[in-house]
Amino acid sequence: MDKFKRVQKDLKVGELFPTLSNICACGCGIPLKGRQKRWASEACSQQAYFSFAILKGNTGIIRKLLFEIDEGFCRSCGVYSEDWQADHIIPVKFGGGACDLDNFQTLCLYCHKKKTATMYSKEMQSHDKKLVFPLSCLYGLQGNGYIPAKICHEKNKLYFLSL
Ligand SMILES: [Zn+2]
Ligand SMILES: [Zn+2]
Repeated sequence: MDKFKRVQKDLKVGELFPTLSNICACGCGIPLKGRQKRWASEACSQQAYFSFAILKGNTGIIRKLLFEIDEGFCRSCGVYSEDWQADHIIPVKFGGGACDLDNFQTLCLYCHKKKTATMYSKEMQSHDKKLVFPLSCLYGLQGNGYIPAKICHEKNKLYFLSL
């Protein structure tokens, strides 16, 4: 997987969920029975397919699942919008590709443009600017609150330093 690409063209479901002998490939630990070859239930296969589709960069699935969470309301300004965008919280450019749903948020067109303009501005290219990132982009932490974070992009690794 290439975290600097939006779509993982060659990713196969078997790479993410290899077939295991006698237990479900989804990671639930449930033993397979009867004629089951890979998944212990329909729910397991559905869940695994969604994870796979998100990491692969399937826009249709990502939008469907994100809509179930945000219902079209912009996470930045809170306004509902018909033209909502599925935004990578950590941009693909900074290694936010091949991420799970927690790296996506609904943004209205206005907030999306504003964010994109900040991301690609000259200031953003330098390493020591203060940026505001959603808390959920700091892996391992949950929540949608905004905190100031400092981003430093070095040797294909991301470092987020709270200020
Ligand atoms: Zn399972
Ligand atoms: Zn907005």
